[in-house]
Amino acid sequence: MTYTVKLLKKEKVTHDVMGITLERPANYHFTPGQCAELWLERPGTLAEKSTFSFIGLDSEPNLQMAMKTYPDEETLPAHIKRLVEGATLQISEPHKEVEYRGPGVFLAGGTGITPFMAIFRQLHKDDKLVGNQLIYANKRGKDICFEGELYTLFGTNFISILALEDRPRNAAGEVDAAFIHRHVQQLDQPFYVCGPEPWVSQVADALQEVGVDEERVHLYSRATSPERIEEGLGK
Ligand SMILES: Cc1cc2nc3c(=O)[nH]c(=O)nc-3n(C[C@H](O)[C@H](O)[C@H](O)COP(=O)(O)OP(=O)(O)OC[C@H]3O[C@@H](n4cnc5c(N)ncnc54)[C@H](O)[C@@H]3O)c2cc1C
Repeated sequence: MTYTVKLLKKEKVTHDVMGITLERPANYHFTPGQCAELWLERPGTLAEKSTFSFIGLDSEPNLQMAMKTYPDEETLPAHIKRLVEGATLQISEPHKEVEYRGPGVFLAGGTGITPFMAIFRQLHKDDKLVGNQLIYANKRGKDICFEGELYTLFGTNFISILALEDRPRNAAGEVDAAFIHRHVQQLDQPFYVCGPEPWVSQVADALQEVGVDEERVHLYSRATSPERIEEGLGK
């Protein structure tokens, strides 16, 4: 089943990530970690369906999502960016993506944080976030989504690492075996990894190298950003 929903609000999350609030269809519910497809039903619009995560709470009146906007004019986020508030979009039923299997280590790369946000917010609301740790990798400080909220939620259990910038509050470099060894105390817990494909593979290798049991590692990835390839990094 698909639903026509109104775009209620657009807001800036970072310089290139846009948050949107959508009207919630009647009796529409999701589980934290789930995603849905969005698309536009407008003649002449070439943008295809794209999948986005719910980042808000299911108990909130509306639906919230966040999406990276690339300079390419035919991506769905670029089209949504040009929509006026009150315009309509199509949304699919929610579907399962990331599943919470108990306290563990969340490793997010860039907008790979998005499917984790609803999980964090729900756990916090239920007073069950304790025991979880977040390692969040970005290229630069300006790319970090929800930074203030993540420090509030996780306190010292939030480690932010930047690949291309030195910043006093952040670690610098890559999430490799040495980094995991230094920052993760316990290996017999779930590891949730979400981000661009090459980064997720690197983190999976690092987890294997430090001796995390494969069954405890849950990988979620999509294609990498064109920008990263242009920078010639991560080869
Ligand atoms: C289940 C799921 C749901 C998602 N939901 C959403 C959503 O709702 N909205 C949304 O915008 N995105 C979402 N994503 C994320 C998105 O689709 C990808 O993760 C995206 O490609 C990531 O990008 P980024 O451009 O923010 O990463 P970048 O900012 O390019 O990089 C993030 C980190 O990865 C490192 N990295 C990047 N490329 C490489 C490389 N080639 N080699 C090594 N390291 C690298 C960077 O150094 C940085 O530390 C979702 C992904 C999944 C799997």
